[in-house]
Amino acid sequence: MNRNDFPQLQDGVIYLDNAATTFKPKCVIERINDFYVHENANIYRGLYDLSVKATAQYDEARQTVAKFINAEPEEIIFTSGTTDGINKFTQMINAKDKIVASDITGHHSNLLPWRKNAKEFKYIPSRKDGSSMGPDNSFVVNDFIDIAAMSMYSNVFGNTKSFDDAYGRPEPRVIFFADAAQAIAHKKIDVKTFRDNPLALAFSGHKIFGPTGIGVLYISKKIHDQLSPAQFGGEMVEDVREQDFDLAPIPQRFEAGTPNIAGAIGLAEAIRYFSAHQNEFFTHEKKLAAYAHRILSEIEGLKIISVTYDPIISFTIDSVHPHDVAQYLAVHNICVRAGYHCAQVGLDYLGIGPVTRISLAPYNTFEEIDKTVEVLKNIRKDMYV
Ligand code: PMP
Repeated sequence: MNRNDFPQLQDGVIYLDNAATTFKPKCVIERINDFYVHENANIYRGLYDLSVKATAQYDEARQTVAKFINAEPEEIIFTSGTTDGINKFTQMINAKDKIVASDITGHHSNLLPWRKNAKEFKYIPSRKDGSSMGPDNSFVVNDFIDIAAMSMYSNVFGNTKSFDDAYGRPEPRVIFFADAAQAIAHKKIDVKTFRDNPLALAFSGHKIFGPTGIGVLYISKKIHDQLSPAQFGGEMVEDVREQDFDLAPIPQRFEAGTPNIAGAIGLAEAIRYFSAHQNEFFTHEKKLAAYAHRILSEIEGLKIISVTYDPIISFTIDSVHPHDVAQYLAVHNICVRAGYHCAQVGLDYLGIGPVTRISLAPYNTFEEIDKTVEVLKNIRKDMYV
């Protein structure tokens, strides 16, 4: 990993809040800049060269995303992020007619849209380590469920493996929906390897070195005939008459209005950068995570709540509130996140409450972990505990 690829790292900050958002590599910043300086035009509308080229770049971005997760381009819908993708999908799939189950430790973005829009909503209970209870415990994704909306990788516990576990053998009509907001940065995702059930999946560009305001909603072709548009307007129709209209083909049908063209092009650049280094990134991250788990757990009073050695490490420190931990680290120019991490239902259900979270990216170093641990070792003394 060349840390010089990331201009913001040169500012000397120790950035350990990568689950919130990642820093951006130079190539992504320059690609977006180039688009606005030389290539800006609206897409699918103009007959002039600039518009034709912008359209080609946008289409190419869709192909790049599709290839990244082994999907077909028409299965990729650009959104503004994971939250937007999940909200749109609840409408597109007509959740008001569906029984939906979602893991209790999930992000609010994968709970609230379903809770608000589903005909019936059920929580999939969780073990103490944040993993969801599969068939051997109290929950089976069975024939009474229409959609299992699961987190592929928890933003609090790391890789809970919930999604990989077999949830019984549900009928093929049961749709699995994956919140892949964190998984996209830490797991190789191949949509073709999923079980027989149709899959839909959402992620945000900003968690894998892409810009904010762009995300992806993958929807398997197997369920395209069950979908209807969540939004209406320009670009998603072919022919509009006074009383009716004909829908454009998928995916344009589900992208009403002018999309985030520069965002999609920037995301494609981020994915090219990420893919070119993916194996090296995962290997480094794994070693770094194992090291961080080990030396953090040696700090007196510190308890790590994630059991797997993942780059998302949430912990508590006896008698010190997580906000004080984050504030104390901030004073030392170390960025971490504290609180409920938009997963309050699960953290309260498990009796854990708020936690401090270190989340690693491939550009983090062993020295940064050492420095963080060194600072944390003094916290109880300095806070007069
Ligand atoms: N799900 C999970 C697991 C997340 O970590 C996040 C972001 N913290 C989201 C959903 C929502 O992502 P966004 O804010 O980019 O829409």
